[in-house]
Amino acid sequence: MAARAAWAALAIAAAAAIAGGFAGQVPGPAGGPVVRLSYRALQPGEPILVSLRSDGSVRSGSVAFMGRRTDLAPGPRKGSFLAFVGIDVQAKAGPAVLVVKLVRPDGPVETVRKDLLIVDKAFPSTKLTLAQKFVTPPASVQARIKREGEIVALAMSVITPAWLGDGPFVAPNEAASWSNFGQRRLNNNVLQSLHTGLDLRVPFGEPIKAANAGRVVLAADLYMGGMTVIIDHGLGVFSSYGHMSKLLVKRGESVKKGQTVGLCGSTGRSTGPHLHWSVRVLDARVDPEAMLHLPL
Ligand SMILES: [Zn+2]
Repeated sequence: MAARAAWAALAIAAAAAIAGGFAGQVPGPAGGPVVRLSYRALQPGEPILVSLRSDGSVRSGSVAFMGRRTDLAPGPRKGSFLAFVGIDVQAKAGPAVLVVKLVRPDGPVETVRKDLLIVDKAFPSTKLTLAQKFVTPPASVQARIKREGEIVALAMSVITPAWLGDGPFVAPNEAASWSNFGQRRLNNNVLQSLHTGLDLRVPFGEPIKAANAGRVVLAADLYMGGMTVIIDHGLGVFSSYGHMSKLLVKRGESVKKGQTVGLCGSTGRSTGPHLHWSVRVLDARVDPEAMLHLPL
């Protein structure tokens, strides 16, 4: 609970700073559109929720950040708009500019700009001892791994221009995590991989639930990820659940928040039962845990 309280305070501070920064740049009557940025921290691996409360004086808008551009979409509350951007886990620290363009019903475009500072983050590292077939996959499966990588990338390449989620994100299981998002993994003393998800200590066979509502864009057994489900939540936000023992949804299916999508397992590159949970925001790989606190 302490972490949650600290996070909320940061979000409020950020909102106040943005609202102040925008006051001089956005003409219009008091009570006009207010852009709010909500985030846990401005560090690699963190998502940012861009929300706009409008009195009807904004028709549409877009957000540009760190080389990516996305449209604002109508939010769940009347007159609200939202968009998601993310700071990739491998992003470099330093200044970054977030630009919001707002289109009024009568045509004019207003540009609002926020200068942000991305602060460096020290991620943990660990040694892993994996079976040789996963460290150096046999030639016979390398084509399969490459093909599956392309299928996964394709599944997340189409951005649904509407928010499909239903309120805040929830954890796919109440089990504790290893807090290992962003971990640098050394296999047999060679830097093998970057852990771009979060592992939850879920016992074998327990249900894995959708972290938010959306549509299943992949439900397949992958060589590395094992039995995997990827859910499109809209606006470029995707969540993925790996190493399951059983898949309980199919590609194309709509899922509710909290719906069981599969059962925990240890399929693919895994040393024991656990859930590998990951989230992408546009192309940015972010800490799933940070999604839980976005004020949706
Ligand atoms: Zn993992």
